[in-house]
Amino acid sequence: MSAATKAIEAGHIWTFPGGIHPPERKELSNQTSIAPLPLAKDYYLPLKQHSGAPGELLVQVGDQVKAGQALTQIGANNGLPVHAPTSGTITAIGPGIIAHPSGLADTVITITADGNDEHIALEPLADYTQISRADLLERIKDAGIAGLGGAGFPTAQKLALQRPLDYLIINGVECEPYISADDRLMREHAQTIIDGTEILLHIAGCKKALIAIEANKPEAIAAFEGLLDKHPQLALRVVPVKYPSGGEKQLIQLLTGRQVPSRGLPIDVGLVMQNVGTAFAVAQAVLQGKPLIERVVTVTGENVEKPGNYWVRLGTPVAYLLEQCGFKPEPDQRVIMGGPMMGFTLADLSVPVVKITNCILVPSSQELAPAQDEMACIRCGACADVCPAQLLPQQLQWLAKAKDYDGLDQQNLFDCIECGACAYVCPSEIPLVHYYRKAKAEVRNIAREKAKAEVARERFEARQERLEREKQERLERHRKAAEARKKAQAEAVAQGGDNPQDAVQAAIARAKARKAAQAAAAQQQNKEGDDA
Ligand code: SF4
Ligand code: SF4
Repeated sequence: MSAATKAIEAGHIWTFPGGIHPPERKELSNQTSIAPLPLAKDYYLPLKQHSGAPGELLVQVGDQVKAGQALTQIGANNGLPVHAPTSGTITAIGPGIIAHPSGLADTVITITADGNDEHIALEPLADYTQISRADLLERIKDAGIAGLGGAGFPTAQKLALQRPLDYLIINGVECEPYISADDRLMREHAQTIIDGTEILLHIAGCKKALIAIEANKPEAIAAFEGLLDKHPQLALRVVPVKYPSGGEKQLIQLLTGRQVPSRGLPIDVGLVMQNVGTAFAVAQAVLQGKPLIERVVTVTGENVEKPGNYWVRLGTPVAYLLEQCGFKPEPDQRVIMGGPMMGFTLADLSVPVVKITNCILVPSSQELAPAQDEMACIRCGACADVCPAQLLPQQLQWLAKAKDYDGLDQQNLFDCIECGACAYVCPSEIPLVHYYRKAKAEVRNIAREKAKAEVARERFEARQERLEREKQERLERHRKAAEARKKAQAEAVAQGGDNPQDAVQAAIARAKARKAAQAAAAQQQNKEGDDA
């Protein structure tokens, strides 16, 4: 065993560069148990709630559906399905505003609930070790599970990567201020998370899982400590409070000292990471056959009367969720999806809760000051000091403003995890992350357009090649036919038959003779005319 592995096994905690300590404000929402939410009247299910392609539609307007029924299927594009959150009727399928910083529209299925909340029959699996890894991955995929920590990467896709793995990391750090959804889930459902972790370990084919929790969650830590004796392959790691310790690369560095290379993945350093909520959803999908139709959402901030954590069906409109929590909006009220560091302000409260929605934050203007006007950069360097990805935020911002995409690439724009630490410390109130998000979207767009142009060029060249090939084939066919004809003629002549060439020569001679006769006759007529 190497010294580094010995240190990991001994529970050594490393550190990562940068980071900040914003006020945690978790006590607003973490005091009470996760509460159920009464059924809403309408649910809005965007087809795409994860990274990657959307699934293919399985339903149409007018269909009756039950809770847990698949509304889309994986299909040819390898999308992830979405399921009905309750029973009711499909009343619309079409463009709808989705929960995205851009306020973009996408295809959304609307279900009007019938209030009966009838569920499809589930197919529990008593012993998951008896089915193949591929079948388990299918089960997780069919349940529509994407990473519930924020990025929404399809869980089965992450697990399907085939490389030797040393550790599975279960991320229960939840370092962003205000959010306590994972904290409450860990306190109340530690055993299910452990079951999910065992399943993930089995699929990933590695020997050990490290469950990471930030030190500011003593109850969650105690809940796991009480259960881990029976699970020797699972180890708890308590990490110091610092934002963003829960970032994938940062947590890997904290727990193993390993650094995921720029543009690389955890698997490149022998690791795979899943969020605690994802482990919970995997246990439910595999052991109970339950698809992902609800999740825990923190509703918090001074402008709700009942802050706390709620079991929210996917597709629930944010406006309805807030109404149930005693929403007291003030003028120019901001409603943020996500936390204060990485979240974004919603332009429309009719947008639904989706798979990656972990928090709805409704701050008062005293609690979270509205964004001030951007001032000029004073080159203080504070942003670079706190950047956990060791980037140069002010330089990235200049390059983004100048649309210098090559420069942004050289400065590793895509290593930015959009944690917002740089903007948090910026004395000039520069919304740095906004510039990075915009620049990333533009770079992706350019890459998409380039790919499209490349496909068009390849298609054009392929057509030209096909036409040329067909022309050559045609010429070749003609050549061969002529050769065959010549050969057949030669054979016929050799066997005493008429030579077609002779016939041609005879026909030419006959035509010449006819022409000569006509000319002679014309001449004779002219002569007789002159004599007369
Ligand atoms: S913190 Fe703000 S003002 Fe200071 S260097 Fe960075 S961008 Fe400029
Ligand atoms: S948002 Fe990006 S650039 Fe800013 S601190 Fe975080 S990782 Fe660094």
